[in-house]
Amino acid sequence: MLILTPTGGQESQEEKIYDVLIIGGGPAAFTAGIYVARAMKEAIIIEKEAPGGQVAVSDVIDNFPGFIEIKGSELANRMMQHVQKFGVPIEFAEVTRLVKEDDLFVAHTADGRTFKGKTAIIATGATPRKLGVPGEDKFYGAGVSYCAVCDGHFFRDKVVAVVGGGDSAFTEALYLTGIVKKLYLIHRREGFRAQPIYVEALKKKPNVEFILNTIVREIRGDTKVNELLLYDRKQDIEFTLPVDGVFIYIGMLPAVEPFRELEGLEYDNQGFIIAPETTETKIPGLFVAGDVRSKELRQIATAVSDGAYAGTKAVEYLEELENAKSGGSS
Ligand code: NAP
Repeated sequence: MLILTPTGGQESQEEKIYDVLIIGGGPAAFTAGIYVARAMKEAIIIEKEAPGGQVAVSDVIDNFPGFIEIKGSELANRMMQHVQKFGVPIEFAEVTRLVKEDDLFVAHTADGRTFKGKTAIIATGATPRKLGVPGEDKFYGAGVSYCAVCDGHFFRDKVVAVVGGGDSAFTEALYLTGIVKKLYLIHRREGFRAQPIYVEALKKKPNVEFILNTIVREIRGDTKVNELLLYDRKQDIEFTLPVDGVFIYIGMLPAVEPFRELEGLEYDNQGFIIAPETTETKIPGLFVAGDVRSKELRQIATAVSDGAYAGTKAVEYLEELENAKSGGSS
């Protein structure tokens, strides 16, 4: 059950200045909230959709220590309850712009509100990358999906394809094998990015067939998906594959649009925000945590690590500000 802490009306939000604005509501954000609250500073989490981010829409998590096997939604819920136990409010709103005005960070939301903070933590995560082929948008919700846990049950005893060769494609394909009659794993080359443990597990499933060195050229159907047009790169041939649905897991795009106006933020060549392990950006008082940060390993464990750093560093920054104001030294 979701327990949400009310944060008061619009008027009080406009005037209030938080110590830390946390933008995003996944594991990095929740961890940051816990660290800030335990240091007796006031944080608010502003989340666009459902709390938990990617974790909430993952089937089973089995690589986060302490939880041998736990549903993603259950872990997300527990994390949220944990941060709420420390009194951190969660506000549901889409931050469309974050700017720095004088010494304050101001988050503008799609519903016309503003939230102000002395510091801010960007923890907006990433969203699924699209294939960009004909039919993908047309059949979204009618056979095209980016979330097996959300939509898998629509394909009971049906034939589906999963596109991609990373951890997401494999973990979600593993989930789907328990539901569907037949699953094709379509990947553009022969090697996989996915961890070998997942690759081996999927290879053992009797209802799975791998289609490698192959790309999707078109998603076709009438009112819903009924086939894919594929291109075998090795044999240089096009062919069609009858399917009832296609799940696309070809990586993530960082959710960075709201931060474009912040001068001094640096991005890597894939658009993720550059910051060291300490999560400090070149903008004083601004931190970046979780999947939206440029890094090698995107896991719940590394998101949580970022959140701990961001929360701690934000508190340190606030204390420096207070010391500077009072003329004291730390
Ligand atoms: P990913 O690791 O970046 O893998 C994306 C896959 O999609 C790659 O196999 C890539 O092929 C393929 N791809 C990319 N663009 C494509 C295109 N236009 N057409 C066809 N295929 C394309 O992304 P992810 O699987 O979403 O994982 C994201 C992060 O979350 C990773 O760090 C991952 O380890 C982590 N994660 C971890 C777990 C877990 O530990 N349980 C679960 C899920 C995700 P190439 O290999 O040829 O580039």
